[in-house]
Amino acid sequence: MTTVHRVFNFAAGPAVMPLPVLEQIQRDLLALPGVGMSILEISHRSKTFESILEQTEADIRTLADIPSNYHVLFLQGGASLQFSMVPMNLLEEGQAADYIDTGSWADKAIKEARKVGQVNVVASTKSESYNRIPAAPEISLTPGAAYVHMTSNNTIEGTQWKTLPATGDVPLVSDTSSDMFSRPIDMAKHALIYAGAQKNMGPAGLTVVIVRDDLVAKAKARAFTLPTMLNYAVYAENDSLYNTPPVFAVYATGLVMKWLLALGGLPAIAVSNERKAAKLYAEIDRTGFYRGTAAKFSRSLMNVTFRLPSDELETMFLRESTAAGLDGLKGHRAVGGMRASIYNAFPEAGVDALVDFMRDFERKRG
Ligand code: PMP
Repeated sequence: MTTVHRVFNFAAGPAVMPLPVLEQIQRDLLALPGVGMSILEISHRSKTFESILEQTEADIRTLADIPSNYHVLFLQGGASLQFSMVPMNLLEEGQAADYIDTGSWADKAIKEARKVGQVNVVASTKSESYNRIPAAPEISLTPGAAYVHMTSNNTIEGTQWKTLPATGDVPLVSDTSSDMFSRPIDMAKHALIYAGAQKNMGPAGLTVVIVRDDLVAKAKARAFTLPTMLNYAVYAENDSLYNTPPVFAVYATGLVMKWLLALGGLPAIAVSNERKAAKLYAEIDRTGFYRGTAAKFSRSLMNVTFRLPSDELETMFLRESTAAGLDGLKGHRAVGGMRASIYNAFPEAGVDALVDFMRDFERKRG
């Protein structure tokens, strides 16, 4: 057991990892059992690493029930590189791509895609400070679009899609960076999803892309024009070992996948995530002192954003909560106020501690 002092880490990412996973990493850091060297030292071409990579992929497939016509790819460059790779691989000359603009990250994805081809923003809640997800009738898709891009959870604004937009035959592409594997996902309704590992999957350095066969074929047709390292087909055909993958991040993510499976998989973690978020929103709604910034029907289970009655009180809240061992509650500067990121690995005891702190703070200063 670890004896070091750990705070409750509400950071938006890189974020808290499961303690048993950290303990296993620590235990095995000097030498992987039976290998005699560290995960930080082994060759990515070794049998050991190949089997870690294979097992991580197999566990992701089991966990999220990924159909066999999808590839699970391990990349680098973060979700931000996917803002470019998605259009570079999937947007063809003469086609448009539809983007749903639900937050600052969606907006960044749009800006990158515009450098590649024609983009139609088919719905936006920007004028409402991105405080909600658009309703179905507000989204008017372009017939024949190359794909529709959405952001499943808006990390900065604290909103999350509850049901997927209906895109018919048009491939649905989703940036799932901040709610990946936090609830069951209907992969068959998506053509491609991508996420940086550093929120819900593991440490920074790894990006997971899950992509359907036919999109990989599209990418393959561009082998002569797309840079090799930016082509999905290269990763698919080389089992993500065309070059050196982020060995440690894959290993650690693999351990997190095992932790999730042992907990009962995505249905089980979804129940825990709902319970944690419900406690926090209940406290926000209990009186008028705290104010949730997201519309109730769009509230994120991962990033809970709220304000206090004044800037002074917010400064005080931050200072005192940090001193009480509740770390990382400062909201993104675009929204202000507080943001409690409570990803899969965030312990329920931390939510309880925050609720107690909020109640106490309101009693003293409200
Ligand atoms: N999309 C979303 C929804 C995010 O939350 C983030 C990171 N906060 C990104 C994209 C960018 O991710 P990365 O830093 O991995 O490029």
